[in-house]
Amino acid sequence: TARIGVLALQGDVREHARALAAAGAEAVEVRRPEELAAVDGLVLPGGESTTIGRLLRIFGLLDPLRAAVGDGLPVYGSCAGMILLAQDVLDGRPDQPLIGGLDVVVRRNAFGRQVDSFEADLEVEGLTGPPLHAVFIRAPWVEKAGDGVTVLARVGEHPVAVRQGHLLATSFHPELTGDIRMHELFVDLVARRLARG
Ligand code: GLN
Repeated sequence: TARIGVLALQGDVREHARALAAAGAEAVEVRRPEELAAVDGLVLPGGESTTIGRLLRIFGLLDPLRAAVGDGLPVYGSCAGMILLAQDVLDGRPDQPLIGGLDVVVRRNAFGRQVDSFEADLEVEGLTGPPLHAVFIRAPWVEKAGDGVTVLARVGEHPVAVRQGHLLATSFHPELTGDIRMHELFVDLVARRLARG
């Protein structure tokens, strides 16, 4: 069984842990470098990327996480988690710490004020079955993606789900709907890496 951590500094940690468990993983909370070192994969939940980034620094997790991503640890970032994985952020705070590793530039709060939150049914590459019902809450979108990045879903022309090797990111919150297909996709990605050794 893959042991998958959920970064538990801020945000919707419980919902991700529940979805991971439903998808067949052992879900554990990660707050300390020792806990990070003991997982096969990690979920960065939604919340507030500026706050989570600041807490990562305070908890001494920012550098260990950057190193882990560089070493190939599978990471799935949702919403604020997508921002944290990005190489760069537009409309972010000037001093906002990022983990980086995913070759994208994201725009924070991209969908604007009028549509702070909305829901949409998305065709997501790699998922079978009906369109995925996706919940967006002050969500980012991908403004620019490098050649190694596969776009899995879009809203209009804007990528909202992407994958680059061991890194997966969505603008939306799949943990809020009871549809565990995004988590299954990530658990599968982690399991394949484990099998490769
Ligand atoms: N707007 C938030 C941020 O900038 C993300 C919102 C979310 O994670 N639901 O981090």
